[in-house]
Amino acid sequence: MFSFLSNFFEKKQIDCFATLPLHACNITKPYLLERANIQSGTAVLIAIPYYSHAAEDPNRNISAYSVPRDYHRYFHQLFEELIPLLNDRFPEHRFAGFADHSPIDEIQAAARAGLGIIGKNNLLITQKYSSYIFLGELITDADIPYTDHGISHCENCGLCMRACPAHALGTCLSALTQKKGQFTESEKQAIRQYGSVWGCDICQEVCPHTKRAISSGTIFSPIAFFQQDVISHLNTEMIEHMEESAFTSRAFAWRGRETLLRNLKIFEKGEPSC
Ligand code: SF4
Ligand code: SF4
Repeated sequence: MFSFLSNFFEKKQIDCFATLPLHACNITKPYLLERANIQSGTAVLIAIPYYSHAAEDPNRNISAYSVPRDYHRYFHQLFEELIPLLNDRFPEHRFAGFADHSPIDEIQAAARAGLGIIGKNNLLITQKYSSYIFLGELITDADIPYTDHGISHCENCGLCMRACPAHALGTCLSALTQKKGQFTESEKQAIRQYGSVWGCDICQEVCPHTKRAISSGTIFSPIAFFQQDVISHLNTEMIEHMEESAFTSRAFAWRGRETLLRNLKIFEKGEPSC
């Protein structure tokens, strides 16, 4: 089964995947495994790099993960293609795909399977793509050979912690850009200061692993989905006029247009600064 998966992933230009038995995973949502009727077996951890060339745009005002279309769509398409192939080839086994809403602690499992190390910023850091990856997993009741690498952590240089604006703001900047309702004046000030209308990449950008992946050129996703149909800069007119189907295909859409328009208004001339 491993070679079948390897061939499939190679065709999809997915080069960062590894296996770990379910008994070595931290099961955080057992009901998802019950729903899939899988009690034991293997998690195939898949790290999907998402850093696009458009993320280098100096005028980018959204987090790099939201420059391509929503990664949930990518994983949905991937599993929709892969799982029927597996069902045909291995009819005696069960398969289920997960991304984000997962039955296991994905970061721990991915680190243990050997995909990377766990950063002080609580992200999985891979060698090629640093932390600019989305994690998903195929779970099966089949036993697949694996190597347990144990969990390794980053060198704890502290750059991410020192650069993180959350200490000064009292909340994560990314969470702040996504909150509903009105901002206080100090929240507006913070958004204006950091220049992002959606998300925050600071703890990833300052990390030496990211700097290395950028300078060596390995950081860019080889997967077409993450290089096509990209948006690096939002403005009010774009959000107001974007077709509903195009809008809902974006990762920045899940809090609705009003949230983005409120954030963008902070950067409009004439908006009082205090
Ligand atoms: S996303 Fe930004 S604010 Fe949130 S933890 Fe990372 S650096 Fe801090
Ligand atoms: S910036 Fe330093 S402490 Fe933070 S995740 Fe990267 S290596 Fe670890």
